[in-house]
Parts: sequence; structure tokens; C-alpha cells
Amino acid sequence: MSRLPAVRFSHFLPSLLLLLAGLAAAYVKDLSVFFTSLFNVLPTLVLLLGGAYCAVYRRQRELFLMVTVYIAYFLLDTQTDYYRDHGKVRDDAAVVFHLCCLLLPLMFCLFAVWQERTHLFQDMVARFAVLLAVGSVALGLEQSFPEPLLGWLAAIRWPALHGQWMSLIQLAYPVFLASFVLLVVQYLRNPRPLHAAQVVGLLGIFWMLPKTFILPFTLNIMCSQVMLMIAAAVSHEAYQMAFRDELTGLPGRRALNERMQRLGRNYVLAMTDVDHFKKFNDTHGHDVGDQVLRLVASKLSKVTGGGRAYRYGGEEFALVFAAKTLEECLPHLEEVREAIATYNIQLRNKESRPQDDQSGRQRRGAAASSSVSVTISIGAAERLAEHRSPEEVLKSADQALYNAKGAGRNCVVPFGQNRRGAVRMTANN
Ligand code: GH3
Ligand code: MG
Ligand code: MG
Repeated sequence: MSRLPAVRFSHFLPSLLLLLAGLAAAYVKDLSVFFTSLFNVLPTLVLLLGGAYCAVYRRQRELFLMVTVYIAYFLLDTQTDYYRDHGKVRDDAAVVFHLCCLLLPLMFCLFAVWQERTHLFQDMVARFAVLLAVGSVALGLEQSFPEPLLGWLAAIRWPALHGQWMSLIQLAYPVFLASFVLLVVQYLRNPRPLHAAQVVGLLGIFWMLPKTFILPFTLNIMCSQVMLMIAAAVSHEAYQMAFRDELTGLPGRRALNERMQRLGRNYVLAMTDVDHFKKFNDTHGHDVGDQVLRLVASKLSKVTGGGRAYRYGGEEFALVFAAKTLEECLPHLEEVREAIATYNIQLRNKESRPQDDQSGRQRRGAAASSSVSVTISIGAAERLAEHRSPEEVLKSADQALYNAKGAGRNCVVPFGQNRRGAVRMTANN
């Protein structure tokens, strides 16, 4: 199944807002003492709080991303402070700045794509060793051979590709481009808030570096924002873990419980359950069962009439219609039931997958795929005067679902009735 539907703008939203806030703050002129003092301590504060947060959640990758950004901030801040105080740059400013332009995107990308291992301690030692090795080599070269290093860094290797607009060393651009492509590919392969934050964070760094000595506090502001993006992504993922169901991507039971506490006086709750799913699993295997649950969830999430789908647990889903009557919801429930019953799910049989390319070509399109379908039963209940809580309405919906199963499955049954005129279709699995 395609992963593209999992790409969400909401993954990027917190980082983009932080990026925009950073850009706006960097352009503000004549900052008051309050803000200059704040920006001076902000990166350290964010590193301490964000770092502690990552450590508690055992997120090494994010911790090392923050530390990388902070080290670059520290090195460049020493330079900008000197420039501000003396009106001229320090002797080693060029070599330090160019090294940061090269190593910051490189290390940021490396730590961003370096997946966490199971052994946390070994993982941390390995990351620390890499950071230490790169740092020591860079420092050693900078101290021992500043001139040749500067010449190597600043050399224009591809004159034909050199543009006037390039304010960083030429070598930095391919590094930024390769890092950006890698991070975008990583996001597309595994769309999650952290991967989105890494892409936006790299853009923030790319924007920041040329302005380091031009716009005061750009460095402090953007480094803080990039570290905040990482910390915000950790929170976002923690929230998703608590409230979203991993298999289907729908909000889970906890989210449903929260939603139920915020429903008004009139609403409808529907419970749905996949028919004969145990048999389906036994016939086609648990993997195919999971694939089908994802499909059912995706169909339910598109229910019309303002309904919202939640995974209640197992192969059971709940639908919530706020400010609606049962009469208004029934056609939408019928529609979604029918959409699922009439959908042919194409399966690629793993067992029948060919061993080599040649036989694969011969067999492709023939036995490689088969089609199955499933049905769901739905029980629906609206809030009545006798219901004292949303949980009681849910119980009524569950009772109606039980009646739907008794009435032969693949139908919608409202609470209080045994069966409503739904077309029953036999499962063709
Ligand atoms: P009925 O029509 O009466 O609902 O029959 P059923 O077989 O669907 O009912 P039952 O509740 O006995 O079986 C539910 C099955 O759903 C049992 C379990 O194997 C399967 N199931 C629950 N959660 C998951 C899951 O996350 N993935 C897969 N593949 N199967 C699951
Ligand atoms: Mg069940
Ligand atoms: Mg079932």
C-alpha cells in the first residue's frame, strides 16, 4: 500500500511556525534589552530543557542533533561576539565559519539519518565517538594548518557553477543539497513529525549561516528555533503514540474517550465490527488481516455526514457524529458499509511470489495477486433522555451491533430496532 497518504502537512506545521517566527524575530531592528538578554541565553536554555526532555524519552538521535546545532552555535557566537565588541572579525573567523558551513549540515544529516539501535548505551557511545572524532580532526587541522585548510575550504572547485549569490563556500552547497535530498527521502519513506522537523531544521540552518555576521542575533534565534523544532517533534510523536492507533493511523481509544467528554446534548455513536474476521485471519494470515484493517479504517475515516472514526480496539471501530440525529446519520452509515462491502481488495500473495526475475515476468498479472472482500456490521445509537453518560450511549450502540450480528451481519441496525432495511451481502472471501 502506498505510504503517500501518510504524508501530512500537520507533521510540518510546528516546525514551519517556528521557522517563520525565527525569520520574523531575526529581522526585528533595535531590540530592547529584554530581548537581547533573552536571545543570549535562549540557545543554552533550549539545549538544557530540550536535552533533558530527549534524555527522559531516551531519544539519542534528537539529543545529538541538538548538541550538534549547539556546538556550531557556540563556535560562531564566540566570533559574532568578538565582531560586535571590536568592530572587526577575529583572525580565525574565516576558517571557523567555513568549517561550520561544511560540518554543520554534514553532521546534522548524519545524526538525522542514523537510526537508533536497541542498545541505548552503545548507540550513545558510537554517536559521541563520531562527534568527538570529527571535532578533534577539525580542531587539529584548524590549529596546525590554518592557511592550507582555509585555502582548501574556500577553493572554487567548479567555476562554471559558481554564482554571485553564493555567500557560503562552494563546497557547502552540494553538502546542503545532498543532505536536503536525503532528509526528504527519509521523510517520504517514513513520514513522521521528527523527519519533517529535520527537513525544516536544515532549511533554517541554510538560511541562517549567510546572515550570521549581518543580522544581529540571527544565530541565537535560528539555532534555538531548530533545537525547538526537534523538541516539538519529540512531543508531537509522544502525543501521537498516546492518541493515535499505529496500525490504522486513526485516533485510538484514548482519543475517543476524550472526544466523548466534549460532546454536546445531541449526538450519535456507532460501533462497527468486521464480520468473521477471525476466519479471515485464519484463511489469509495476520499480515493480510492487518492490511484489511487499514483499508477498513481508511474507508471509515471518509464517512460522510460529519462523522469521525476511531479505532476502538481489535477489529472494532467507533464513529462519532456530533450534533446529529440517528435519522440523519443512517444514510451515511449505510453508504460506508456498502463502500466496504463492494470494495475488492487486491492481495499480493507472498507465498506465490516468484523466486527469480524470469519466472516473475512470466507469472506477473496471473497468480501473483488475488482479490478478497470483507463486510462490517454497524450498530448505532443516539443520545436519549434516559442516557446519563456518553458511555451509556456507546453501550446502546454496542447492543445494536450485537443485534446486527444476530440479523445476519453486513447491515446497519439502530438501537431499539432489530434490523433496518439494509441490503445484506455475503462475504466473498
Ligand atoms: P464476528 O463476525 O462475530 O465479529 O466474528 P469475528 O471472527 O470477527 O469475531 P471475533 O471477535 O471472535 O474475532 C475478532 C478477531 O479479530 C480475532 C483476532 O484474530 C482479530 N484481530 C483483532 N485485532 C487484530 C489486529 O490488529 N490485526 C489482525 N490481523 N487481526 C486482529
Ligand atoms: Mg469483535
Ligand atoms: Mg468481528
